[in-house]
Amino acid sequence: MKIHFLGASQQVTGSCYLIEAAGVRLLVDCGLFQERAYLERNWAPFPVPPESLDFVLLTHVHLDHSGLLPKLVREGFRNRILTTPASADLLPIVLLDSAQIQEEDAAQKKKRHRKEGRRPRHPEVPLYTTAEAERVNRLVKRVPYEKRFALRKGVAVRFREAGHILGSASIELSLKEGRRSFRAVFSGDLGQWKKPLIRDPEVFKQAQTVVMESTYGDRDHDAPADTETSLGRIIKETVSAGGNIVIPVFAVERAQEMMFHLSRLIRQGRIPRLPVFLDSPMATDVTDVFLRHQECLDKETTGLFRSGQSPFQFAGLRYVRTQAESKAINGLRQPAVIMAGSGMCTGGRIKHHLVHNISRPESTILFVGYQAVGTLGRQITARPPEVRIFGQPRPLRARVEQIHGFSGHADRGGLMDWVGHFRPPLPVLFLTHGEKEVALGLARSLREERNLDVNVPGYQDLYELKFSFNS
Ligand code: ZN
Repeated sequence: MKIHFLGASQQVTGSCYLIEAAGVRLLVDCGLFQERAYLERNWAPFPVPPESLDFVLLTHVHLDHSGLLPKLVREGFRNRILTTPASADLLPIVLLDSAQIQEEDAAQKKKRHRKEGRRPRHPEVPLYTTAEAERVNRLVKRVPYEKRFALRKGVAVRFREAGHILGSASIELSLKEGRRSFRAVFSGDLGQWKKPLIRDPEVFKQAQTVVMESTYGDRDHDAPADTETSLGRIIKETVSAGGNIVIPVFAVERAQEMMFHLSRLIRQGRIPRLPVFLDSPMATDVTDVFLRHQECLDKETTGLFRSGQSPFQFAGLRYVRTQAESKAINGLRQPAVIMAGSGMCTGGRIKHHLVHNISRPESTILFVGYQAVGTLGRQITARPPEVRIFGQPRPLRARVEQIHGFSGHADRGGLMDWVGHFRPPLPVLFLTHGEKEVALGLARSLREERNLDVNVPGYQDLYELKFSFNS
């Protein structure tokens, strides 16, 4: 089996691995590079002709795993994209949003270049269009969790819960040639254990090769109970001060997770009843997909639904669709929780809510997700005296808070535990989807504490693995 690392190598975006084995050529994920330093790679030709690929296996719909699929299809891929049923329903929402952003960015660049009289280095075209994003959906094949699905004779896949976002999976690839068999496991992004809403990650016992993510391989998160308590405390204090709690949220998972916590805090009387707005049509669409896929939810959440206590429907909660409704929120005279996208404040309706609240000492801007370098969100977390929004400086007088424990990724302990379930003969491990220093640090721990053979592959590194396991 040959494995070619085409992304998420010593950094965290652009997940894409090319596998060639038993006469099959496939990709695991086809993600967008989102870090500034690697954006050029999105425009480079694929290292293999897309029409020569037999399958794409998709672990989950986050753009750093799915965001180059429209380009792959435009450039000739015509075969099946296999993923879980919940991911298949989320994918059109996520890719359409991405294409719209690509189109807007290209239009804006064109306008700016014209104004500045500059001749651009690249043509101002979107990476892909909304029409191209829609073409992906026809190729998607739904594979239920736990079903062993034959790609062809001697090659099978199985998707298992990864506990990261709705529909997320780890993928097991089994190959058989005569009496020889080989198994590779791709962790995908692994979630935290004992988090509300979706199920916990599943573990694997046997494989010859494992590709594991390492995003938070250098730190341990706060306990989930502490994060909910912090959320409640910040809301109570802000309500006492008479301000709003403005929370930038990602439309997939974080928005629904916040609703889960808010519904519980209100139901248990730990925060006062107050208006809660989800001002994101995309997050509302995603919430509908959650309701359609209750097979992915954990026991606690399905129990709530059965007893008529939906975490997505509680006193005070309002889903905001139109722009007029969105604007009306700012005329409200009582404290409210306002959740809107984008999660890192790079665009979307959150910017308007920031304009209305960032200079009010009684309001709180609360971050519950990762804030990448260079984003408005990251800038605000550094609490400068003022920030520019819509081209104008705004004094930052609001309280700024950040809760880290909501992360969708397993921490160092979680990753060590997940990999600890493999039985001898122990697999050869590849660590991806982590900053270089983080991945190298985790590799060191795994070698010393678990006696594992660990590699941290670089961009475009190619490994050839021998079929060595007899079934
Ligand atoms: Zn992810």
